[in-house]
Amino acid sequence: MNHTLVKPSEPAVETVGLSKVYGRNAVPAVNHLDLDVPFGSIFGLIGPNGAGKTTTIGMLLGLVRPSSGSGKVLGRPLGDRSARRQIGYLPERLRLPEYLTATEFLDFYGRLYGISVKDRQARSQRLLGQVGLAKVAHRQIRTFSLGMQQRLGIAQALLPEPDLLVLDEPTSALDPGGRQMVRDLLLELRECGITALYNSHILSEVLEVCDRFAILRNGTLVTQGTLDEIIQRGEQVLIRFRLMEPTYIAICERFGPTNPNLQRSELTVTLEAETDIPLVVSALVAHNAALQAVIPLRERPEDALMRLLNPHH
Ligand code: ATP
Repeated sequence: MNHTLVKPSEPAVETVGLSKVYGRNAVPAVNHLDLDVPFGSIFGLIGPNGAGKTTTIGMLLGLVRPSSGSGKVLGRPLGDRSARRQIGYLPERLRLPEYLTATEFLDFYGRLYGISVKDRQARSQRLLGQVGLAKVAHRQIRTFSLGMQQRLGIAQALLPEPDLLVLDEPTSALDPGGRQMVRDLLLELRECGITALYNSHILSEVLEVCDRFAILRNGTLVTQGTLDEIIQRGEQVLIRFRLMEPTYIAICERFGPTNPNLQRSELTVTLEAETDIPLVVSALVAHNAALQAVIPLRERPEDALMRLLNPHH
């Protein structure tokens, strides 16, 4: 991989107020999106159907013209041709030429990228092996199952040895073995310094593969960051008492009166992690409260993502 366009200290993808309104539709498909994808990360773009993920990817690749805002991909403005040469892209709806064989298709595609004959041959052979299509390399694509086509699409996206790999729903048609293959491939590529944008509905898979996430809802960015950052925002602290007295609850409430998530049970009070816990504890100690334990409650990663995807969850 030749990192000619972007320094590792720069973000691989950066957008400021990026928006898209289709046609005369007043509702933006993407609404003032500030995205920051650090170089070398596998970045999961998550959101329900219609959240604006594919539109975002389209704008980053220069396929969809933004209505407003700006962005840089690999250090270049959106749609820049030299940046596009360094991007491998697997679209959500892949249309492959049916009458070409897998090898012919990769050769054709490599020619479009300006890759030499020798490199094209070596790379496509290696990639077809990696995606598990070596045995059918010389079969026409029209005989391929959906999953086999998706595997070929992944090989095609990797053919230019890209600095940025954009995968829009790469595993929707894949069997468990295929999913494992994509996961292993991405983790291997990350070791080599690739940056990937990964768009998927399968939360378990995103959690396994990605080290950073952005959550989109109705075209708006809900949050972005590492899993730890996302989870921390939902953390709570449980205070357990040996026996409960109404004054203990009153003290806790003093520190979180507007807190809708202050929960109590027979012997415990749960507070949002942002509450000044040392202050609550010292107030309780000053009242000789029968404190037993202060326990941080960590959300399960799947729950954190579900909470952000669906605020009513
Ligand atoms: P999915 O998970 O279903 O693929 P998505 O998050 O990729 O969804 P987009 O395809 O970006 O979402 O769509 C975002 C919104 O923009 C949707 O409301 C959709 O109807 C609208 N939209 C997308 N493409 C067009 C288009 N070409 N013309 C008009 N509206 C569009």
